[in-house]
Amino acid sequence: MARPYDQTHDSALFEQRSLPSTERTCPLCGHLGLRIYYHEKLGRPQPSWIIYLWCPACHAYSSAFAGSGRNQVTEDPLAEEFGERIKELFRDPEALLRHLDGYWNRGSLPQEISRRRKSDRGR
Ligand SMILES: [Zn+2]
Repeated sequence: MARPYDQTHDSALFEQRSLPSTERTCPLCGHLGLRIYYHEKLGRPQPSWIIYLWCPACHAYSSAFAGSGRNQVTEDPLAEEFGERIKELFRDPEALLRHLDGYWNRGSLPQEISRRRKSDRGR
């Protein structure tokens, strides 16, 4: 079942922050290879993301808001499929992770991150 990582797990994850998600180890079950998903959060003063980091083996996860700066994701398969209903999924982590694993297994995740052009800022 999906459950958030606790504080101890979060600090173990923080230590691995320089590694790509697929080379990080789940602090809960020891599985090698975490997954990551970025969702661009609109309507905020600064460009920002909701970031989900999760373990495909035990479905422990962490979610966080972060400024995206000039970075952007080129695709968001979840937003494309669910549109406005994405908010309901964010309230149901187990269903959310099932969908994200599905995209991952079909190759539409992980997302590519690109640099926003200056002229695109503020949109
Ligand atoms: Zn795990």
